[in-house]
Parts: sequence; C-alpha cells; structure tokens
Amino acid sequence: MNYKIKCSKCKQNYQLVTRPTRFVVCYECQKPDLKGEITDPKMKKLLDIPEQFYKDNLFLRDIKIKYLRFGDLSEKQIAAFEKVVDKMQKAVMKD
Ligand SMILES: [Zn+2]
Repeated sequence: MNYKIKCSKCKQNYQLVTRPTRFVVCYECQKPDLKGEITDPKMKKLLDIPEQFYKDNLFLRDIKIKYLRFGDLSEKQIAAFEKVVDKMQKAVMKD
C-alpha cells in the first residue's frame, strides 16, 4: 500500500510513502542535500542507483543524505539500503 503525502516543506509536491507519515519532504526539496562528492569506492557503488529510485523512495534519500553529511553509514544502514534497492529492482523488472 502506498500513500501520497504532501511535502511538509514546499506544500506542493507529493511523496509516495509506504506507511502514513506526518512529516515528509519531497525529492525536489531534498535535491540540494543529495548532491555531494562520494570518494569511497564502496559507497560510490552502493549509492549509484537510478535517480528514479531516489525520487520514489524517501528512505534511500535519507540514507544518501546521512552518508553525505556524516561520511559514514552503519552496517545496518547499508544492509537496509541494499534490501530496498533490491526490492525496487525486482519491481522494475516485473513491469
Ligand atoms: Zn517539497
């Protein structure tokens, strides 16, 4: 089940979420936070996914922004990221 929630920041765009969430920020509003240089080859590979995935999925954006901000991710965060990407890739293949 997907919910369309209006962005709390611009109050214009909608974001798809899998569960009702009160505070949601859309892709357009987070776009500046998603820009940054990734030098670690391992992280570069991990975060190099289709831009559409970041547009569709708030969680993936959060992880990327966290990495860009703190320069590190926990094993748990990496595993969760990979799991979501894997799920989305499978969904794309189904279409
Ligand atoms: Zn917005």
